[in-house]
Amino acid sequence: MITQSLKRRTLFGAGVAALAAPGLLTGIANAQESAEKDAMTKDAAFKSLKLGTFKVTVISDGTRASDNPHETYGTNQPVEAVSALLEQNFLPTTGFINGFSPVLADTGSEIVLFDTGLGEGGREAGTGKLADGIRAAGYAPEQVSVVVITHMHGDHIGGLMEGGTPAFPNARYVTGQVEFDFWKDGARVGTPENGHKAVLQKVVPLAEKTTFIADGAEVVPGITAIAAFGHSPGHMIYRLESEGKALILTADTANHYVLSLQRPDWEVRFDMDKAAAGATRRKVFDMIATDRLPFIGYHMPFPAVGFVERQDQGYRFVPVTYQFDI
Ligand SMILES: [Zn+2]
Repeated sequence: MITQSLKRRTLFGAGVAALAAPGLLTGIANAQESAEKDAMTKDAAFKSLKLGTFKVTVISDGTRASDNPHETYGTNQPVEAVSALLEQNFLPTTGFINGFSPVLADTGSEIVLFDTGLGEGGREAGTGKLADGIRAAGYAPEQVSVVVITHMHGDHIGGLMEGGTPAFPNARYVTGQVEFDFWKDGARVGTPENGHKAVLQKVVPLAEKTTFIADGAEVVPGITAIAAFGHSPGHMIYRLESEGKALILTADTANHYVLSLQRPDWEVRFDMDKAAAGATRRKVFDMIATDRLPFIGYHMPFPAVGFVERQDQGYRFVPVTYQFDI
């Protein structure tokens, strides 16, 4: 539906251009403006869901293609096992596509953004589209009142600052104390986790406007933090609840909809504490499966919303269709 409405806008834009005959200066100006707007939003993708009185919008920051799935997922497994599971699920074995999906939750009184994509650093590679997506969804970055950072890997904090200034100028910030303390620590200097530098650049300048939280903290009414450590030392996920409807933002608890959900114990390159990440994956998705809750996973295939059905060794991802539309 989103694609359709954007297509319609593109067609309309083209129509205006065609009508802009010599002499129709206003028409030309409009056509130019329209073309610029189209260029800005043509790749924008978003999906809005109604959760009680909340409006929850998933926004695509873009996608990135990589080679050799086995080097990222199932790194403690034989390559044949990873390839076999991919083939069984109709997926190629030589490459994969990763998506990045920040979430905007409009509670009626607050506009809460969860994670910020890759930002300026990702733009050359075709990511960093969050701000365009926010505008395409009918919001403005200036309207965001709270930015929540689930954890401090580059694909989540990259969009916090643009050209050295805050990308969400009217927002306050919320993030986990454990996560911030880990990355800020001078002990990170020169370690392979040199995400330290990115944190100094993107997060530390905003520290005065940041609330540092722990497990169980309420961000705003209806939004609660849950500690889900492992992927990173202080990785936090969030429960959104309005009028008895709940949804879990699982962030990077599982990073591939097949390899990490069907085989939650398989090790993932980006999980910093692999055993803890596996245990957290089990715990979180057991809860989601048992309670039959919808979830949004930052790296699930866009629109990154779904359910899980428990299987023999793990979980099957069931993508959202029209559950939120009726
Ligand atoms: Zn991530």
